[in-house]
Amino acid sequence: MNVPIRLELPTEFEVGTVNAWLFREPEPILVDCGVPGAASWQALTAALAAHNLTAADLQRVVVTHPHVDHFGLAHCLTEAGPAQVWIADLGADWLLYPQKKWQERIDYYRDVFLPQVGLPPEMQTLVLGFFQHMQATSVPVAAERLTTFRVGDELPLGGLAWQVLHMPGHASEMTCFYQPETRQFFSADMLLPRTPTPVVERPSDGKTRTPSLPIYMESLARVEALEIDEVYPGHGRAFSQHRELIRRQRQRIHQRQEEAYQLVAQGHHHLMEIVNRMYANRPLEARFAGMWMLLGYLDLLQAEGRLDYTLKDGLLYYFVVGG
Ligand SMILES: [Zn+2]
Repeated sequence: MNVPIRLELPTEFEVGTVNAWLFREPEPILVDCGVPGAASWQALTAALAAHNLTAADLQRVVVTHPHVDHFGLAHCLTEAGPAQVWIADLGADWLLYPQKKWQERIDYYRDVFLPQVGLPPEMQTLVLGFFQHMQATSVPVAAERLTTFRVGDELPLGGLAWQVLHMPGHASEMTCFYQPETRQFFSADMLLPRTPTPVVERPSDGKTRTPSLPIYMESLARVEALEIDEVYPGHGRAFSQHRELIRRQRQRIHQRQEEAYQLVAQGHHHLMEIVNRMYANRPLEARFAGMWMLLGYLDLLQAEGRLDYTLKDGLLYYFVVGG
């Protein structure tokens, strides 16, 4: 069994560090590669040097999902050496046309999503400003340096064939890699020590948001069913006992979902009112991620038929079904 080496890279995000996983044999490759920027690049090259490698030795970087902390250095790696960037066809556009993808998300958030959730103007400015910063600093990967694979394919990693599994929820383009004989699993941000936020993405029609936490719960059940000895997550150390972790996370989600239900039942119908109660002790920036999570809880309640929502004066308005 070829165990990947964890290279821990800094990010400026709340999540802390991100992992790039290194296989040295049969050829040096990475699974994911950190955020863009000098600090991250320095950390990566130093970590490679500690294993007697340089960026020019890497033959491939395989990206689990198109979130910037997982592919940010892909472009730099292609400049530094022969590395080819591999990603599932689902997410390839984020690497090839990042400006266009960010613009679509910015337009959807500015025109549809942020006004509907009733985010205060200063928070809207903060969120859109962050997206614009991401857009301005993204560098595309050249098409000839990108190789796409598909869900169901087998990827050669560390001398073994790994199955590509589609695990939407945190990101609709999320892929995980599973090695059934050695029972190793690259969970990316699908299974982390802490439940990942269901990120609100631009829906394909530009209007109707896809409920992502119900989808995440389905993916979680599929991960639970896999026979896994060792999990290599996108953030944090490798771990085992994945079923125990999933059981705890599910419990926590049900508990928070119940809190959200009670708040709506008590007459808090707007998203921001509920966020400000459920995330009262969190700083303003963290409440935005809290809002993504809360939408997820409300989506679960809606799927269960206990809550529903409508638009009132352009704002999302939640109510108890039959209440
Ligand atoms: Zn991540």
